[in-house]
Amino acid sequence: MKIIVCVKQVPDTAATMTVDNGAISWGDAPLIINPWDEFAVEAALNLAADQGGEVIALCLGKEGETEAIKHALAMGADSAVMVSDPALEGADNVAASKVLTAAIQKIGEADLVLFGQQSVDTDTGLLPVQTARLLKWPSLTLVSKFESVNPGDGKIQVLRSMEEAGQVVDSSLPAVVSVTKDYGEPRYPSFMGIRKASKAEYPVWSLADLGIETPSSSIVWPEVTEPVKKEIVTEIIEGETPEEKAKSLVEKLIAEKVL
Ligand SMILES: Cc1cc2nc3c(=O)[nH]c(=O)nc-3n(C[C@H](O)[C@H](O)[C@H](O)COP(=O)(O)OP(=O)(O)OC[C@H]3O[C@@H](n4cnc5c(N)ncnc54)[C@H](O)[C@@H]3O)c2cc1C
Repeated sequence: MKIIVCVKQVPDTAATMTVDNGAISWGDAPLIINPWDEFAVEAALNLAADQGGEVIALCLGKEGETEAIKHALAMGADSAVMVSDPALEGADNVAASKVLTAAIQKIGEADLVLFGQQSVDTDTGLLPVQTARLLKWPSLTLVSKFESVNPGDGKIQVLRSMEEAGQVVDSSLPAVVSVTKDYGEPRYPSFMGIRKASKAEYPVWSLADLGIETPSSSIVWPEVTEPVKKEIVTEIIEGETPEEKAKSLVEKLIAEKVL
């Protein structure tokens, strides 16, 4: 079985975002693999271990920004492909899905393409569905469990986890699947895995290598603003005894119409 797992590079989740003259900055924050994508890598590795097969990590990003791919390789992915082209600066989801689709088709013969649920920086959760549509493959979103995967019969059954219900879905292969965190904890890269990943070589494909023109973007960001900052006032409740402090707290909550 051939599984492609799409991984994105994002700023460290502990980083603070600022907006300066409409430009987003995460300062000097290191880049990490999008945390949601670790669940997709974990699922891909388990499926390949069960069924036999290979896992290929695919990342669209700036050349030299390798953290997502290295992390997927360190977790155990067999190989990786990076797609990078200066013409893709500021590309929107539609453009990104066209490029990922071309790369998936160039890799060829995939049974499954796995995605994370969403990216933590731009956060649309749209790319898995858009890519499935372009590939003309079924799209199975928010998957927390692979009930059965049978490439021989071209069949897959998954459990989709929504907030208030689970839904078992049967579909055909090849398919695009987005994996939720309910799938289960992703493994930590092993020391050997990290060493192997640090020496790994993989192709970096440009748009010309994919044989496609620069896809046009339909959505631009004419303005980006920071969320309105809320002023938080902290007050220490004074009192001689716990009862006195509790009484004072209740009076303040009533005065503020919280109670
Ligand atoms: C400098 C910069 C400028 C941008 N300008 C614009 C703009 O003008 N207009 C606009 O609409 N968007 C813009 N974007 C956003 C960009 O288009 C999105 O990051 C991209 O389309 C992916 O969408 P998403 O992050 O919402 O992914 P989601 O759909 O939330 O991600 C879902 C899953 O898709 C996969 N995935 C996401 N991104 C990648 C990737 N790059 N490689 C491999 N797999 C991936 C991961 O598995 C992820 O879990 C810009 C981004 C940057 C960094």
